[in-house]
Formats: sequence, structure tokens, C-alpha cells
Amino acid sequence: MSEPIPHLDEIPTRLARLHETVLAATQRAGRAEGAVVVELAVKYQGADRIAAALGAGGFLLGHNLIQQLEAAELALRATGAPTHRTHVIGHVQKNKAAKALAFAQCIETLDSLPLAERLNRLHGERDASEPFDVMLQVNSSGAESQYGLDPAEVVDFAGAVNELPHLRIIGLMTIGAHTDHVTEIARSFTTTRELRDSLLASGIASATQLSMGMTHDLDIAIAEGSTIIRVGTAVFGPRP
Ligand SMILES: *Cc1c(COP(=O)(O)O)cnc(C)c1O
Repeated sequence: MSEPIPHLDEIPTRLARLHETVLAATQRAGRAEGAVVVELAVKYQGADRIAAALGAGGFLLGHNLIQQLEAAELALRATGAPTHRTHVIGHVQKNKAAKALAFAQCIETLDSLPLAERLNRLHGERDASEPFDVMLQVNSSGAESQYGLDPAEVVDFAGAVNELPHLRIIGLMTIGAHTDHVTEIARSFTTTRELRDSLLASGIASATQLSMGMTHDLDIAIAEGSTIIRVGTAVFGPRP
């Protein structure tokens, strides 16, 4: 009983509907309008569908695979797509670090010091005026299948990354517990929010963002303080 893949022309309406859902959830949570940004999770979407979402008011893109990131960014540039910002939301292998830096503006999934050190060195060599933005991925549900840092190691790891001059920690990213139990999902988001607050309290003032919530659990994430929800299915339909 899978839903058919929506036509390109339906993407603007679906994005508008998502924005209404997000606004309603933000208000229910008693949070300020605009406190939550939609990041379009675009894995396996063609550049035409991504461009349709950008043309309909999308701005932030999230890519899982570096190969798709590169291909999509090159296609969007070639067709003059609207200005946008792109994050990496999938695991980054060390040998893909340079490509990730070249085609994205933030890696949300940093969870190892060797990768952090490589990104720091490579970005330093680029002579950029600003440090490269990273978020630390937290394995907040404890699932063995998930990448990310154990919650107990996040503060120390952040301290080590914060010493690297060419990286800037802008927050934490997590994938909610893979279950239908709302309280369990909420707990993984609360854990992540509390860790973000610990980073701020430890003096990492740039670590304000919380990337959490997807199509099925964005309401819970917004109630728990998410500032970035990563949404694919609600906008693009089932993945091809
Ligand atoms: C695919 C993906 C999403 C979006 O999931 P949907 O259920 O399609 O909204 C969010 N985050 C990550 C890391 C993903 O891989």
C-alpha cells in the first residue's frame, strides 16, 4: 500500500502544507514563529525536484550521500537554482571529507576525532575566512545500528573539537528512537536538548542548533526544542 510518488508540480503545495504543520506545532509548543527551520532531506531526489522545492520557498538542503551531494549541487548551479545552503546529514567516510567541504556548508554528523582533525586540516588549507560549521551527531536512542556519539561522551568530544581552529560547532544532530512509543522518541530528543544546553553552559556559545525530527516525529521534536527538522517524505513522497 505504498503512496505513489508525487508529481513535480505537487511539491510546492506539499511544502506549503508542511510549513503550516510546522507553524502549528511551533505555536502549540509555545515557541516563537520561525524558531524551527525546515531542512529538505533530498536523498535520491533529482535536481529538478530539488529545484522545485527551492523555488517554492525551500532554502536548506540535507544530503546523505556525498556522491549525490556533488551531483545535485553541480546540476543546481548549472541550472541557476535559487540560493540555498546545504548540509551533510549522512555518515561521512574520511576519504569523502574534501568533497563534503567543497559542496556543503555544514556537516551535521561529526562523531569521530580523526574525521574532525581531517576536516580541520583540509578547511585550514582552503584559506577560508570563516571556520567550517559542524554539528555533532548524538546516538540518543542507543540503537546499535545508529552512528553518533554516546551521550556520555558528547561534552568531552565537543571540548576537543572546539580546540580545532577551523571548525565551528553550531549544535547537535540526532535521529529519534526508531519506535512508535512517543515517550521513548521524546526521551531521545530531550537527552539531545540537555546535551546542547550543557555545551552552551561549557562556553561553546555557537552550539545553539538542534537538528532533530523527521516526517513521522517532527511534532515531538518541535515540542522538545528542535530548531531544524529534516524532512523528505512529507515533501517529496516515498523515496524512489
Ligand atoms: C531521510 C532522512 C531524513 C528524512 O526522513 P523522512 O522520513 O523522509 O522525512 C531525515 N534525516 C536523515 C538523517 C535521513 O536520512
